Amino acid sequence: MNREDLDLAQPIEIADRIFWVGYVHPNDPFQCHVYLIENGEESVLIDPGSMITFPMTLRKISSVTPLKNIKYLIAHHQDPDITGCIRALERMIPRKDKFIVTHWRTQALLKHYDWETPFWLVDEHNWELTLKGGRKLQFIFTPYAHFAGAFCTYDEKTGTLFSSDIFGGFTEEFSLFATDESYFEAMRPFHEHYMPSKDILNYALKRIEEKHPTMIAPQHGSIITEELIQPVIEKLRGLDCGLYLIAGHDTDIMRLSTMNKVLKGIVDSIAMDRRLTESLPHIRELFAEMVDVSELMIIGRAPPNELVVFSSASENQIFKLERDDWEDIKPTVEGLLNTNGVKVLEGIDLPQLGLYESKVVVFPLKDSRKKSIGAGLAILKPGAEVRHTSYMDLIGKFSVPLSASLERELSIIMLEEERERVYKAAVEDALTGLYNRFYMRAVEKEFYNARRYGYPFSVIMFDIDHFKKVNDTYGHLIGDFVLKGIARIIKKNTRKGDFAIRYGGEELLLVTPFTDKKAAYECAEKIRAQIEKKTFHSNGIPVQVTVSAGIGELEGEESLAELIEKADEKLYQAKESGRNRVVA
Ligand code: GH3
Ligand code: MG
Ligand code: MG
Repeated sequence: MNREDLDLAQPIEIADRIFWVGYVHPNDPFQCHVYLIENGEESVLIDPGSMITFPMTLRKISSVTPLKNIKYLIAHHQDPDITGCIRALERMIPRKDKFIVTHWRTQALLKHYDWETPFWLVDEHNWELTLKGGRKLQFIFTPYAHFAGAFCTYDEKTGTLFSSDIFGGFTEEFSLFATDESYFEAMRPFHEHYMPSKDILNYALKRIEEKHPTMIAPQHGSIITEELIQPVIEKLRGLDCGLYLIAGHDTDIMRLSTMNKVLKGIVDSIAMDRRLTESLPHIRELFAEMVDVSELMIIGRAPPNELVVFSSASENQIFKLERDDWEDIKPTVEGLLNTNGVKVLEGIDLPQLGLYESKVVVFPLKDSRKKSIGAGLAILKPGAEVRHTSYMDLIGKFSVPLSASLERELSIIMLEEERERVYKAAVEDALTGLYNRFYMRAVEKEFYNARRYGYPFSVIMFDIDHFKKVNDTYGHLIGDFVLKGIARIIKKNTRKGDFAIRYGGEELLLVTPFTDKKAAYECAEKIRAQIEKKTFHSNGIPVQVTVSAGIGELEGEESLAELIEKADEKLYQAKESGRNRVVA
């Protein structure tokens, strides 16, 4: 069968003795198909159609088989596009033993038409019908998809499934057969709004899959041939249905479908990205389907009194506004944070956040106890409008996943700060503020890098001269004070990448990577001279001290301990040769 030159004015045999006998309704994306199983005097008409399709269907049936051969009229449910022609049709079929095949739930409604033809209920016949000659039809119950008593019909002989509304589609251009997987885009909005829920659709798909159909002939849309069945089922499985629940009173299916896609995209993005900063650029793109946004910003409240700002402008853009930074803009920010519901605000001036007279859509973000944790800002491009009011409803829905994401993000930030604080406390010496000996692990890493890559590496060991005497003369507290002052001088003289460590009681080690003996000497000498010149004043008492220092430079295969030992030896030499000096 060459699908391109199908003559749609004629019945089309889609499988062995199965004919499409429908009518192409011009300019209508909602096509309604009728199928005929020609089986001699026990032929079957499936979803007979409406008064619109009836004349064409009648003509097509007659060209396949005489009308009197139709014994069964299957009505998958009671809608007018299926049953509208039955009154006229039953009168044209000249036989008494004909039946309307349906489910009891459908019959309960259809009986009100008061037709002459009796009902034959699938649920009372073990869900199957064997036609003369042995051709067997099985009925598959697909409740609520989309009607409580909905079912499908499966022809065992050809593997054809007459799927009623399932697998239907809105086709802008009539195509009896789906050509490729892009047909799914026609199915998407159809199912999203026709099917009440994902669970209901998935139940039906599961029942259908059990039959392994080789062709699907839906009542709407296009016929799906074998190679496309599995791919479209996979896609249908992930579809979120019950579309009308999304946005208030909006009934525009295409718009609702876009919104559904955007909402799902946001949820996916948040679920898949580790951090809010990673998902924001994707979310901004999704937003752009509804609103012309230049940037998406999330402002979060970080206790005790800070703001954390996340922006889609760049992946790493996250900054914290401390109390002082945001005192000026506090009224504006508080106004945004306390917005009730989704609002469009104009003339928002927050230079600290890069907003100048901006128009923004603001939506509140709340934690699980409904307490405000921040706000989302979609910053509109100049002149942009929110294209439809129902998008405002939808943006309100975004705040649920975004709130969850922000809540998670704020706790991560707090944990990171806490970790940082605990780590700092663990490696910092409380008296001097220098690193303590636990930090030698980090130094070790640097040391092995230097040994491996052959760059210079030196350590300087300082020791206060006659420090015992300082303690003995002025007391321990003043000793502490002096020690702190010396630590400060050393720290002031370190470069980025150097480590100042309180190695022992009053022995301070300065580790200087990328520094040879000569440069380390100059550095130590500078520090020594500064200390010599300095007078420490505590409670009006002037105290002057000096320090001695020894330098070790990394040479060959020695260990860090050996290097420090070397510096210690030089320090000893400095003490021996009169103190207040540096020995390299
Ligand atoms: P020198 O190094 O010049 O040979 O003489 P010194 O008197 O400094 O001798 P040494 O280095 O052996 O003595 C260290 C003294 O430093 C012992 C102790 O009283 C004092 N000290 C060590 N840690 C602290 C501290 O945290 N606070 C105070 N106030 N004193 C400390
Ligand atoms: Mg000492
Ligand atoms: Mg000493």
